[in-house]
Amino acid sequence: MLKIYNSLSNQIETFIPLNKNKVNMYVCGPTVYDDIHIGNGRPVVFFDVLKRYLLFLGYEVTYASNITDVDDKIIEKANQLQMTEKALSTKYADAFFNVVKAVNSLDFDMTPYATNYIDQMIEFIDALIKDGYAYVTDNGVYFRVSKINDYGILSNQKLDQLKTGVRIDLETNKESDADFVLWKTTSEGISFKSPWGNGRPGWHTECVVMNNAIFNTKLDIHGGGFDLKFPHHENEIAQSMAHNHHHLSKYWMHVGRLDLDKEKMSKSLGNDIKLVNLLKNYHANSYRLMLLAHHYRQPIGFNNDLIEQYQKAYDKISYTLNKWHFNFVLNQNDELLSDEASIESFKQFMDDDFNTPNVVTLIDGLLKTLNKESNKKIYNAIMVILDCLGIKPNILEVTKEDINNYRMWETARVQKDFKKADELRNLLSTKGWI
Ligand SMILES: [Zn+2]
Repeated sequence: MLKIYNSLSNQIETFIPLNKNKVNMYVCGPTVYDDIHIGNGRPVVFFDVLKRYLLFLGYEVTYASNITDVDDKIIEKANQLQMTEKALSTKYADAFFNVVKAVNSLDFDMTPYATNYIDQMIEFIDALIKDGYAYVTDNGVYFRVSKINDYGILSNQKLDQLKTGVRIDLETNKESDADFVLWKTTSEGISFKSPWGNGRPGWHTECVVMNNAIFNTKLDIHGGGFDLKFPHHENEIAQSMAHNHHHLSKYWMHVGRLDLDKEKMSKSLGNDIKLVNLLKNYHANSYRLMLLAHHYRQPIGFNNDLIEQYQKAYDKISYTLNKWHFNFVLNQNDELLSDEASIESFKQFMDDDFNTPNVVTLIDGLLKTLNKESNKKIYNAIMVILDCLGIKPNILEVTKEDINNYRMWETARVQKDFKKADELRNLLSTKGWI
């Protein structure tokens, strides 16, 4: 049985989807005003592995990842660059999808753009006002946090503590410091018509409305980076409690941060490493291996030594698999089954709240066994496991010429024609076959 840590209950729970073998999942995507950095890529990889594993277990999965294409940061940057918000957000949304593909993630099943759901957002906010959960000020519409009994449930905070923690904004005319914006009236940048004046929706409203629109409020897993717990996800939950009378999703999952050796990495600090740039120097498989060698809830302190370490680890995986692939083709070993015990171990680790560090250790052990036993079932099991992790080793095609060269090498050795044997050996080892 798959068990996952639910951030909502702070407990490991058995995973039981709302609708038998169908799983709906929604993961907060990027605000598209720049390329994503290597920390932003971590939830992308983790939730891809989660989807792959659910598919492996036989679930039908619908995975939505949104694009926030209306935001102050987009407006600011579009102004700086003298381009429209639409052109800027399209550029970086495309860049996001390219990098998602580059790290070998499966396509998202749905990619809702916030600007396509403005009408639903207005309806939603209107309903909240009518039910007393929201109120209008000169600046827009605000959510009345005091109406939600269990506000703070996700971030484990009490409302009275929150009030002191939230910065007081004198211009908003809010009833309470903890209240958050649902609709911001403004004449600056991209704006939409609404009963409360021209403006744009708040980020927390965007996600909850897209969720409701796509999944009809029936969500199994809502995920994102750890930083999104508060205020973003807490406020999504508050709105869902007001509108749907439930916590929006059965399971909430949060992925730990990846920072530069304990130094916070962010676009605003200007010290971020763009994922697209990292992939110019390192294989996407090395990046995945590095992430998955750490438990998804643990933070990662990134430095060059770390990625180098996993580049080497990946090279070893690739080298060993290619070598045995050649051997199995050479010996016409076409066994298709996977070693059951290995797959069972893999499942045990994954079922334990995605213990991928143990899976990475398991792969290492299986490579050793493969080297010892020349067992195609072990090879197949490694390939199945790697596929679930989204790691796709580059297994080269064995040609007739390769096989001829190998046979000639064997003959040359028997005949003690060392010069020829050396030449053929070089040829074969350059291709990675021996
Ligand atoms: Zn979101």
